[in-house]
Amino acid sequence: MRDLVTANRERFYQERDSRTESYLQARFPARTPVSVHVSADACETRAGQLALVTLVNQLARIHQEMRIALATPGAELLVPSLCGACALADEVGRLVHRIDPYGRFDVGSPDLEPCAISIGIGEYCRSSLAWYLGWDSSNARLDTKSCGFGRESSASLRGSGLAALLGATAIMKTALGMKTRPMVLSAWNLASDLAADPGPAELPEIDVGRGLMVGGGAVAAGVIYWLMQWGNRSSWTLIDHDTVALHNTNRALLFFPDDAGWPNHEARTKVDCLHRHLADVAPVHAWYDEAVEAGDIFDTVLVLANERDVRTLVSSRNDPIQLQATTGQSWLSQVHRHIAGRDDCVRCRMSDIRTPRLRCAEATIRVDGTPVADAALPFLSAGAALMLASTLQRLQLGEFGADRTNRWSWDFASGHRVHTASYCECRGDCSSVRGARVRRAVAGMTRWADAPWMR
Ligand SMILES: [Zn+2]
Repeated sequence: MRDLVTANRERFYQERDSRTESYLQARFPARTPVSVHVSADACETRAGQLALVTLVNQLARIHQEMRIALATPGAELLVPSLCGACALADEVGRLVHRIDPYGRFDVGSPDLEPCAISIGIGEYCRSSLAWYLGWDSSNARLDTKSCGFGRESSASLRGSGLAALLGATAIMKTALGMKTRPMVLSAWNLASDLAADPGPAELPEIDVGRGLMVGGGAVAAGVIYWLMQWGNRSSWTLIDHDTVALHNTNRALLFFPDDAGWPNHEARTKVDCLHRHLADVAPVHAWYDEAVEAGDIFDTVLVLANERDVRTLVSSRNDPIQLQATTGQSWLSQVHRHIAGRDDCVRCRMSDIRTPRLRCAEATIRVDGTPVADAALPFLSAGAALMLASTLQRLQLGEFGADRTNRWSWDFASGHRVHTASYCECRGDCSSVRGARVRRAVAGMTRWADAPWMR
């Protein structure tokens, strides 16, 4: 019996961690223990709980040994549950074990001793931890001293969610011996440090009308996750043909080994797994080019897939607005804006970033001679998704399209500035973008017909 358990555990980590190791091109010290310490002020607020559950959701996909010390483990769960619990410690315990049934996780007691790699959430955390997380509206902070957080508001769910991504990044970089530094990063204007804007204190639930989401992978899982946490009033059609594989669970916040059929049952489809977490999602289990729903008119189109020439197909739709979110080598998350007639099309953008100069999402990673195109890390997929969800928020509020910038990047490996913004244009031989009359006719059937950025 013990041999079977050992064999299963080895098979589990081998399959699940293949994409992590492909991405890093190295073995990761997954058994180096890490600890998370949460003070009462964080345990008892929605934003604090969101930072905690989002942090451990990522850590358990990479680190096999973890202590999670909660000042008030019995606190009522205030954020949406992924595991059906009502109390905070119960949800966290179920979550980490659901993500990794073989991990060594100790959850609950506030007295758990810190590990060498440790992180604190909340103003009244114990001292001498390696890292601390805080937030102020949409601004997230990573620091080496306790930094707390501002007044609880709808925007603080943006800042605390992003803080959890900074925390997971810092812990992984520390485990790898990579240099990292304190920083502030904004989930509102996507800028870092002095340029980071906390944005409005109150933000409405996200409403971008009828949405089409092409692709149901790790970035789409992240988009659904943020919509679920921040609130959603849009309706979505979600198209994907795949089922969940165990190696998807190294990074997708809403995929679990049981979705992948672990240990020995049938895997679920990605669209079914995502649709269960958000009302107003119509799941379509098909390739984009075979889905009849793809012929409908949508207000907002998210392109989150790249197989079967889907980028060329979506570029010929001429929707008023298409958005993409991608991950790349060098610990990169990106969001791409495509306003028809103003920005370049999806097809030109993604062929552009194939050049080695930019080392973006399309680059193929090789380990032991085996190409793996879709390798990424949890905070990169969730980070690209957060940039996209934030862009949806700005689109909804009219804070959109005023400048020429159409690509925003976060480089989590950088020891200097994390964010960059740039402008891309269609290639001279682009055949996807139609004339102004056609574009106006398509836009006229959407909620954006009179949007300032359309003029
Ligand atoms: Zn083009």
